[in-house]
Amino acid sequence: MAQCIFCQIVNKEMPASIVYEDDLCLVFMDIFPIKLGHTLIIPKTHSAFLHELDDKVRQHLFKVANAVLQAQRDAGITRDGANLLVNDGKAANQHVPHVHVHVLPRDQGDLVKVAWTFLTRMLNFFGKDKKRAKLDKMASDIRQHLPSDI
Ligand code: 5GP
Ligand code: ZN
Repeated sequence: MAQCIFCQIVNKEMPASIVYEDDLCLVFMDIFPIKLGHTLIIPKTHSAFLHELDDKVRQHLFKVANAVLQAQRDAGITRDGANLLVNDGKAANQHVPHVHVHVLPRDQGDLVKVAWTFLTRMLNFFGKDKKRAKLDKMASDIRQHLPSDI
């Protein structure tokens, strides 16, 4: 889909801090992270809703999301916990209509900070983007802890 920003990232028409890619999916850093390390896993083909994906692709997305979460743990980016989240449809707060799994690192007691960041980015259309160098470094730290056989 030409206008879809995530398709543009897949096609390398738009820059992104890429963590991992294979035939089915692409993993990259969220440019407006709710927490440092906020990562997105997307299918390479355009679909807005989770149910539109082939079973194989859907299962692969979650397999890769789990590997990303483990890599974040091993890299010390995720310490206490994480949210794995799909906003499926506009009514469910989906802003980019291309399926994506959020992997969001969480720390004990960070709810107020997360809620505040979430609110301010909504008021300010996602808020302030993180500097590319910082996102690239984070992507590289996660990549180094991913297994070679996802
Ligand atoms: P949604 O609200 O649709 O579940 O999540 C979309 C996510 O995509 C948001 O967390 C937002 O920060 C992120 N996002 C929006 N535009 C871009 C972009 O151009 N590049 C990257 N890397 N992430 C984006
Ligand atoms: Zn798309």
